[in-house]
Amino acid sequence: MTATEELLRRAIAIATSARGHGNHPFGALLTDAAGAIAFEAENTVVTEHDPTGHAETNLVRNAARALGGDLSGYTLYTSTEPCAMCSGAIYWSGISRVVFALSEAQLYARTGAHPENPTLQLPSREVFAHGQREIRVEGPFIEDEAAAPHKGFWG
Ligand SMILES: [Zn+2]
Repeated sequence: MTATEELLRRAIAIATSARGHGNHPFGALLTDAAGAIAFEAENTVVTEHDPTGHAETNLVRNAARALGGDLSGYTLYTSTEPCAMCSGAIYWSGISRVVFALSEAQLYARTGAHPENPTLQLPSREVFAHGQREIRVEGPFIEDEAAAPHKGFWG
């Protein structure tokens, strides 16, 4: 098992935990320059009544507050490819690298126009391509495992 897969499996476990807490099945974590996990965040859309409570946006907000605002040098690992909103949050945070498991296309195949998650079909690479600084994106990886927390969730 590679370090990438190990960290993505942790993000998938966080997604499973989010579902267990009554939220949507998404999880993300941040590693520092040495590759150690520095922060983790679950989706909190349902329990916090916050439509912006996606795992990646929660992670950026919490980590930036704790670290003084600049997340450059950190890598974000997420169970599912960041949506356009989260890609924006990642862009503004200074995060330099994003690694995801399940692709947005595979998520869309599961959610379609689901009222709680009408997936935005705007891949993170496309959002970042319009920015003024480079963000490295890697993924998808281990999509079968990443799909597991979504099984039976979206009806
Ligand atoms: Zn999002």
